[in-house]
Amino acid sequence: MTLDDLNEQIRKCRKCRLWQCAKNAVPGEGPDTIRLMLVGQNPGGEEDKAGRPFVGRSGKFLNAVLAKNDIDREELFVTNIVKHVTPKNRNPSPDEISACVPYLISQVKMLKPKIVVLMGAVAWQAPRVKGVEYIETVHPSAAMRFTKMRKRFEEDFATLKKRL
Ligand code: SF4
Repeated sequence: MTLDDLNEQIRKCRKCRLWQCAKNAVPGEGPDTIRLMLVGQNPGGEEDKAGRPFVGRSGKFLNAVLAKNDIDREELFVTNIVKHVTPKNRNPSPDEISACVPYLISQVKMLKPKIVVLMGAVAWQAPRVKGVEYIETVHPSAAMRFTKMRKRFEEDFATLKKRL
């Protein structure tokens, strides 16, 4: 199976209720050869409209932190643990995460990143794939809003570049 095949499966997926309130699935975005994968919680309203991950306010904040650390977003894969928007951007429920997480596992196995950064407590629930290094940090939307979390997020990305 190719990445395009997997994206197509995600777009047609009806394994949980979330597709019903979505305009678009957001499988993820990036090249098929990567060293780094970033994983958030679920697409928000802007991402749902665009069918692309992290294009709203928190995406702009993430882009700025990546640029500050000389990490090129074009060279990494960005996705979420859940591939459809949630009603009113609530946290995905455990059954929605269980239904969707096999797609993330397939993406990791297919793309074979050296490091996967799990952003936020919901993403931290992702099962680990053997041979891949996982780093937990806070979600960019929390980092944007709270000084302490911003400090942690910025520190984690500052050390990340050296480990790639
Ligand atoms: S959130 Fe995931 S499991 Fe649920 S319908 Fe969308 S792609 Fe399928």
